[in-house]
Amino acid sequence: MTAFSPTAAQPVSPPPQPGDPAPGDAPDPGPGRSRRPETPAGPSLSPSRAADFKTCPLLFRFRTVDKLPETPSADQVRGTLVHAVLERLFDLPAAERTPESAAALVAPEWDRLITAEPALAVLFNGEPPAQDRPAPAPRRADSGAMRDPAAVEAEIDATGQAALIDVPAGEEEAARIAAFLAGATDLLAGYFAVEDPRRLQPAERETLISTTIGDELLLRGYIDRLDVSPAGDLRVVDYKTGGAPREAFEGRALFQLKFYALVLWRARGVVPRALRLLYLKDAEALDYSPDPGELERFERTLIALSHAIERAKRDRDFRPKPSRLCGWCSHQSLCPEFGGTPPPFPESAPAVDVTADQEPDRVGTVLRDGPLG
Ligand code: SF4
Repeated sequence: MTAFSPTAAQPVSPPPQPGDPAPGDAPDPGPGRSRRPETPAGPSLSPSRAADFKTCPLLFRFRTVDKLPETPSADQVRGTLVHAVLERLFDLPAAERTPESAAALVAPEWDRLITAEPALAVLFNGEPPAQDRPAPAPRRADSGAMRDPAAVEAEIDATGQAALIDVPAGEEEAARIAAFLAGATDLLAGYFAVEDPRRLQPAERETLISTTIGDELLLRGYIDRLDVSPAGDLRVVDYKTGGAPREAFEGRALFQLKFYALVLWRARGVVPRALRLLYLKDAEALDYSPDPGELERFERTLIALSHAIERAKRDRDFRPKPSRLCGWCSHQSLCPEFGGTPPPFPESAPAVDVTADQEPDRVGTVLRDGPLG
C-alpha cells in the first residue's frame, strides 16, 4: 500500500493574509548556518538518521557513531543550492516570484554557499566524487557474480541519479561550474511547472520542528516549507531535487513525511492536512494525507526503533544490511559486504545524538536528496 498519489499540483495556500509572517520572517541563519540544535540529554531521532538505521544499521553507525566524513556529490550540492534559491524566492514580493527572478538568484546563492563551504570547490577542479556514480553492487561471499551492466542502467533509470550528473570531468573549471548552475536552473523550471509561488505565502520556511514522544524520545527535523490555510489547515512541502522515487526509495520518502506529520501533530496539536513532495526534476507532486490512527502506529514504530538503536549501541552490534542503496554508500571500503573492515568501535563513543549533524539534507552538511541522504 502506498499513501502517495501523483497529483497535478494546485497551490492551496492563500495569498498573504493580515497577520501572516512577512517575507523574510522565516528563520534564516544564512550561509554556514549555525542551526545545530543543542545536544539532547536523552535519545533523539531525526528522520534521516532513523531511516539510516532502518536502511542499514552499519550505515547508521558509520554516520552517527563513527561520524565518518562524506564528500557531497554534485547532485546533493545542487539540491542545497536549489533549496536556498526557493527559500530566497519567497523573500520577494509575490508578483516578482517569477522563473526569471529565481534564475537570477542562482549565482548569488551559489556564491553564498561556496563562501560558507569552500571545500565544495573540489567538485569543479577534479574528478567528480565517486558517489556521483552508482558503485558496484555488494559482492557477498556466496555471490561472486559480476554486476550486470543492464542492472546498473536500470538502477540509474530508477533513481535518476545519473541524469543530474552534469559536472563533466576534463572541462575547464568555469565551464563545469556553468554546467552545474545550469542544472540548478533547470530544476527551478521544474518547480515552476508544478507551483505558482505568486499565489503562495508560506507560513514558515526551513523550520526546525521537534517534539518528545514516549516520555523521553526527542524527534527533530527540518521542514522546507509550511503552508497554513485561513482555516488553519497545515500543509508540509518538501522539495526533492533528485529523480522521483521508484520502489526502493518511495518507502524512505514516506517515512520522512510521516515523521514530519507526527512531530507537527504532537507539537502543535494539528494533524497536517497534506504532506507534499515536489519532485523538481520530474515536475511532479506527490501528496500524502495522514490520519491520527496511522500516526499513532508510526509513533510506536519510532519508539521501537529507538530501543533497537539503544540495544545496538549497548551491544556494539551494527550489522550491514545490503541493498541496492549500497550503490550510493560512501563507506563501502569499510563494509564487510564489500570486503572491508569497520574501524574499531569508538571506546569513548560520545552520547549518540542522531540529530546533532542536523538533517543531512540541509545547508551546512550540504548533503541533499541522495538516496541515502
Ligand atoms: S555498503 Fe551497504 S551494507 Fe555496507 S554500510 Fe553501506 S549501506 Fe550498509
